[in-house]
Amino acid sequence: MNSPVSAPAKPSDFIRDIINDDMEAKRHDKVITRFPPEPNGFLHIGHAKSICLNFGLALEYREKLPGSGTRCHLRFDDTDPAKEDTLFEDGIQADVRWLGFDWDGLYHASDYFEKMYQYGEQLISGGKAYVCSLSDAESKAHRGDVKTPGTNSPYRERSVEESLDLFRRMRNGEFKDGEHVLRAKIDMANANMKMRDPMLYRIRHTEHHMTGDSWCIYPMYDYAHPISDAIEGITHSICTLEFENNRELYDWVIDNLIEHAKFPSRPHQYEFARLSLNYTVLSKRRLQELVEGKHVSGWDDPRLPTIAGLRRRGYTPESIRAFCASVGISKANSTVDMAQLEFSIRDDLNQKAPRVLAVLKPLKVVIENYPDDLVEELDANYWPHDVPKEGSRKVPFCKEIYIEQDDFMLEPPKDYFRLAPGKEVRLRYAHLITCKEVIQDQNGNVTEIRCTFDTETKPGDNPVGRKVKGTIHWVSARHAVDAEIRLYDRLLSEEAPPTGKDSEFLNVVNPNALQVLPGCKLERSLAEAKAGERFQFERQGYFIGDEKDCKPGSPVFNRIVTLKDSWARSQKK
Ligand code: ATP
Ligand code: MG
Repeated sequence: MNSPVSAPAKPSDFIRDIINDDMEAKRHDKVITRFPPEPNGFLHIGHAKSICLNFGLALEYREKLPGSGTRCHLRFDDTDPAKEDTLFEDGIQADVRWLGFDWDGLYHASDYFEKMYQYGEQLISGGKAYVCSLSDAESKAHRGDVKTPGTNSPYRERSVEESLDLFRRMRNGEFKDGEHVLRAKIDMANANMKMRDPMLYRIRHTEHHMTGDSWCIYPMYDYAHPISDAIEGITHSICTLEFENNRELYDWVIDNLIEHAKFPSRPHQYEFARLSLNYTVLSKRRLQELVEGKHVSGWDDPRLPTIAGLRRRGYTPESIRAFCASVGISKANSTVDMAQLEFSIRDDLNQKAPRVLAVLKPLKVVIENYPDDLVEELDANYWPHDVPKEGSRKVPFCKEIYIEQDDFMLEPPKDYFRLAPGKEVRLRYAHLITCKEVIQDQNGNVTEIRCTFDTETKPGDNPVGRKVKGTIHWVSARHAVDAEIRLYDRLLSEEAPPTGKDSEFLNVVNPNALQVLPGCKLERSLAEAKAGERFQFERQGYFIGDEKDCKPGSPVFNRIVTLKDSWARSQKK
């Protein structure tokens, strides 16, 4: 398994080097970053990397530069009215807060629609933009490709007056969607395709969740983003590597407006490697496909790598932050092993989750020589020796108990140290029992085990001169609490989804990513377990009371993660 290094106390990476340089050279006296999600879905663990970076930088530099105004904004990049919704905005805010961050100012790109429009007129007046009336298909044909320069639009030399008039009438709603667009006048032969007279505005007769029907023209990302950054005084605009080619246009927009607009800062864009994880998908579009196609129960389905899904699965904010720190910030894309994320939650819960007993697939054991009515209340520690915490509870022991079906074998191999005919095993915190008889149904399934217990040794004692290698967990049948347990596993059964057509990844969705076990048996102390409470079920893994379905008296638990990297082993088999 991957054992990632823990987060360095003082993170250092190329972004922080750039900022430190800027401070030394006095290019900035504060650091202002932003996290700019598009409110068209829920956040996923990839976004968490960007959140930890942007909000983390503000926290760090605020400490270094007290009183400087160093901060991080949350800005909704709401320039595409067709896909966006306040529902997603609420979810995103909740997720950022849950991760442990807070914004210094909540903004929307749509706050600046009027200014963006005015800057559009400014660009036209300066001969830097024009209204183009080519159809989509014609525009595409004019663009050329990486090897072939594009050709100028016949509308490129339209007079300033005509373009201004058309742009105003576009705003006034005089044209249909697609009839005209506003384009920057840059260079149709530029090696960077993004610079071939890119579209700045398009007509969309669509209601916007913030601005209603005030607008029927909407700015493109490449135009709206630099302007929003500059208006807010962002100093370091950090995005993922696939925007590398957009940087030239980002700079063009700012350079051509800064004198006129008197922006409070001259932001620069820096790109870092996006997070990719194996055995899952990190793309809002694909996640949406899973949700809308009902392959999962919703955006918070614990199989999904969404923040809401990870939260419901039982991940802690601390574990996600530690994971992001362990991944680090680099300039080269790579895929991180899911085992590294799983390591981070195990590492966190080891210190946080009390140990209790639960039987997932029960097999009844009757201890024949145990008195019918006797109940022994046995001491059981919540914490192992290497966790510096105190606390224990009583677990009741009586004549009938449940053990795990997997802890019994009719014909065991030599190195099997659990229960088998004639074999002795230790019950955790309790007695040594020996299997005397096996009861089977007509089909040969084992339905009950009859045992005797060693009356000479007390619970927990080590008998002298006898080798009892195995210890198994159990739950008193009379006191057991019935529960539903949901075993979650990786979303995809293959390391990487097939590239190619989008929906093909649906073919590798792991059919066993969710297994629901009704009739599990929990120890008595879990009867009142609440939603959100986390435990280690000894020998099984870490579990959490489900956010929505766990109620005191009728517990429902989700498996957060197994105790060991059992995936790697099961794959080998
Ligand atoms: P997706 O590809 O999942 O739709 P997106 O980039 O379209 O994501 P946005 O809402 O535009 O989603 O992203 C908000 C911010 O989060 C952007 O700055 C983006 O660069 C960053 N981000 C998105 N995905 C990742 C990722 N996998 N790793 C790191 N940062 C990411
Ligand atoms: Mg996006």
